[in-house]
Amino acid sequence: MALINILLFSLTFQLLLLLRVSSESSRIAGDVSGIPTKFLDLAKSPEVFDSMVRIRRKIHENPELGYEEFETSKLIRSELDLIGVKYRYPVAITGVIGYIGTGEPPFVALRADMDALNMQEALEWEHKSKVPGKMHACGHDGHVAMLLGAAKMLQEQRHDLQGTVVLIFQPAEEGLAGAKKMIEEGALKQVEAIFGIHLTNRLPFGKTGSRAGSMLAGTGFFEAVITGKGGHAAIPQLTIDPVVAASSVVLSLQHLVSRETDPLDSKVVTVSKVHGGNAYNVIPDSVTIGGTLRAFTGFSQLQQRIKEVITKQAAVNQCNASVNLTPNSKEPVPPTVNDKDLYKQFKNMVRDLLGEESFVEASPIMGGEDFSYFAEAIPGHFSFLGMQDETKSYASAHSPLYRVNEDALPYGAAIHATMAVQYLKNKALKGSDSANGSHDEL
Ligand SMILES: [Zn+2]
Ligand SMILES: [Zn+2]
Repeated sequence: MALINILLFSLTFQLLLLLRVSSESSRIAGDVSGIPTKFLDLAKSPEVFDSMVRIRRKIHENPELGYEEFETSKLIRSELDLIGVKYRYPVAITGVIGYIGTGEPPFVALRADMDALNMQEALEWEHKSKVPGKMHACGHDGHVAMLLGAAKMLQEQRHDLQGTVVLIFQPAEEGLAGAKKMIEEGALKQVEAIFGIHLTNRLPFGKTGSRAGSMLAGTGFFEAVITGKGGHAAIPQLTIDPVVAASSVVLSLQHLVSRETDPLDSKVVTVSKVHGGNAYNVIPDSVTIGGTLRAFTGFSQLQQRIKEVITKQAAVNQCNASVNLTPNSKEPVPPTVNDKDLYKQFKNMVRDLLGEESFVEASPIMGGEDFSYFAEAIPGHFSFLGMQDETKSYASAHSPLYRVNEDALPYGAAIHATMAVQYLKNKALKGSDSANGSHDEL
């Protein structure tokens, strides 16, 4: 009898436990699937949409290069002042970090980059770049506008936030490692997770894509000066020809991927610059070559092999070579790796917010992003937001014809805001394991 009682008790207890667990998980699931589309509706409302378009166009007209984003930064701060969001400035010269919510953990960060590119805009339109030779051709003007749109909506909900949303406006994404500098200056202090969005013409309008794990490649650059001895082109025996040496170098570099790399492991070595000589009958003293490398694994070994191949192949041709792996201060950027758990949360959120078909499983690409520094330091998630329409008229990033589809801005703002709210909500449900104590910046 006693044994039956014990068995019955144990069964009842297990049943109760099961019920509790399932109600807990349905509470979490319910919360996730119950995320209303309020942020999307709000982001599309004239109040938020018009201000995003205005901000984006203003930044587009006055593009500023890495670490020179003074006016962009000023505009961001005046917009944050307008909606009453506290911020830290300067961080990494022009960077701004805003804080919305309780000022207490958990802290979740949303990131936008602010810099433009050294190129001439080719499109004629009302808000064309007013600075010759500089252009927002990577959509960073749109990224700032989307994050400010999200800030506006989140600030209105600040009393309901179960933690703090950290808005990171970073300088110098394009090759100058602004993210790294932001981290060195404390941008991620107490932050548990970070999300970043990049506009793209490669996905249809309103669709968003990401993947778990490796998403973008580690990226680096190289430049080499191959020096010989110039002279008359008709008397080559009295010269040491750096043109022939450079030709051997360019061909030998091709073997690093085709012969030394596992065909299933994606890598790129491209020589994209060759400069040397300026007469038909003169062998020059030197030739300069330059290019880029991309890899998900074995990045520094590939850098070393590039250096070796250039110097040794130059020596075979009796030339000297010096190799610079950070030309024009362009620092190598690590691969962007998405955290698996954040990827799951993001995917579920997008499906709830925009519908099942709106999430696209992205393939890894050999492009690079300095968001990788953030995602290397703490769990991070980087995604692409599509803006291509039926006309297929949206050019690729870094094209002089590039333009942002402004109708995509509300999607970006809504994704930012919803993800932050949901992350904090999930965290509160699971019980925060973050450090206690208030954030001393607030
Ligand atoms: Zn870019
Ligand atoms: Zn970019």
